[in-house]
Amino acid sequence: MRYDTKMSKNSTVYDVIISGGGLVGLTTALALDSAGLRVCVVDALPFETQLAAEFDGRSSAIAYANMRMLRALGVADRLGDNKGPINEILVSDGRPHSGLRKGGPGPFMLHFDAAEFTGKDAGEPLGWMVENRHMRMALLGEARSRKTITLIAEVRAEQFNFEGARAQVHLSDGQVLSAALVVGAEGRNSPARKAASIRHHGWGYGQWGVVATVAHQMPHNGIAHEYFLPNGPFAILPLSGNRASLVWTETPAAARYLKTAPDDFFQAELERRFGSFLGELTPAGPRWAYPLTLMVVEKYIAPRLALVGDAAHGMHPIAGQGFNAGIRDAAALADVLADTARAGLDIADPIALERYQQWRRFDNTALLAATEGFVRLFSNDVAPIRLLRGLGMAAVDKIGPARRFFAREAGGGVGALPHLLRGELPQ
Ligand SMILES: Cc1cc2nc3c(=O)[nH]c(=O)nc-3n(C[C@H](O)[C@H](O)[C@H](O)COP(=O)(O)OP(=O)(O)OC[C@H]3O[C@@H](n4cnc5c(N)ncnc54)[C@H](O)[C@@H]3O)c2cc1C
Repeated sequence: MRYDTKMSKNSTVYDVIISGGGLVGLTTALALDSAGLRVCVVDALPFETQLAAEFDGRSSAIAYANMRMLRALGVADRLGDNKGPINEILVSDGRPHSGLRKGGPGPFMLHFDAAEFTGKDAGEPLGWMVENRHMRMALLGEARSRKTITLIAEVRAEQFNFEGARAQVHLSDGQVLSAALVVGAEGRNSPARKAASIRHHGWGYGQWGVVATVAHQMPHNGIAHEYFLPNGPFAILPLSGNRASLVWTETPAAARYLKTAPDDFFQAELERRFGSFLGELTPAGPRWAYPLTLMVVEKYIAPRLALVGDAAHGMHPIAGQGFNAGIRDAAALADVLADTARAGLDIADPIALERYQQWRRFDNTALLAATEGFVRLFSNDVAPIRLLRGLGMAAVDKIGPARRFFAREAGGGVGALPHLLRGELPQ
């Protein structure tokens, strides 16, 4: 076991053990620490491995309400210039270049513009783009700076005992930690979820997401593009400088090939799809390929256990909402646990955990359903369906309130917001 922080290692001091210190586990640690709880995070990997450039090539679109939370937690400052605003999103049907037809986005059918925000959201961008490795660095930097958070790396949480007044977590090096509550944040194959016998269901989309960064000649002006090709969506997401992150959906076989294809082949295939609207393109750095799947769980809680992030819900990245949903889980859990602790109750009180579940399960299920619908509608090249989605997008585009509703919904600025999503610390 490697302790990453220098505080007391007496396991009896923890209120919460977070099993899994990925993007959502670390966000949850900061949120719960800000709610006054004593938190220990355990991750199977060395944190340095997670920070290495080759570990995770993805970038995340962070909803604007979630960036308010990261600001309140001290993470946004640590991101510095490594975050860039998304000012506009253009959605269109795209066609790859073939013969005389030019590739790239078609005429846009749906246009979201941050300039349309009014009231409390006025002046906010639609969201922010951050490379995951910068996000991991900022989250970890903030967690390390808080002496009240214990970080343990290079050990796996292997067995869990949820009975009695405190839960026990047995680690791969033989140590046993205990706390009032365990938070399962180990991603889709959560061992905590399995130990609590919570069932999950899901399916693969028969699609993989190829992820790469490209440098381009002309500025992107903070405009994100999402367009739909026969094998699935192709997203161009603006990064700092003249760079963009691509999420390119392909069949598994094509994705595996593109990941390791010679540079000139990759470049040619890229240009066929990307088009020339940002001038000359230069692929920068390695490529990654992720299988795309959906996962739902039968419940988010069990005695002395709460699930957050991909341990609780797995969704297609078409709407860039997986990490965002995990950030919202962390915010809601922090409010619920802060209220419960203030009332002098056991933080794993079943009624409190039920409140967390009700708060998050409905939102996440609605998001999963919407994502599922988008994937089916937009990964389809059948002519009537293309016509239907074109008409649907054009209709939403014509109706200002509908456009603004979708922009706010994706930005996380609607519904009953926990304190952190309003930019305030849990009270
Ligand atoms: C191509 C692609 C693009 C995406 N784009 C976006 C986007 O733009 N916006 C967005 O919001 N989301 C996006 N997502 C989704 C987002 O990346 C995930 O939802 C998010 O990374 C999930 O984080 P997590 O911390 O819940 O899980 P994970 O990232 O899976 O982290 C789990 C952690 O638990 C640790 N762990 C596992 N087992 C154990 C154990 N037994 N003991 C201790 N530790 C353990 C692992 O080492 C890991 O650090 C995208 C996803 C893909 C595939």
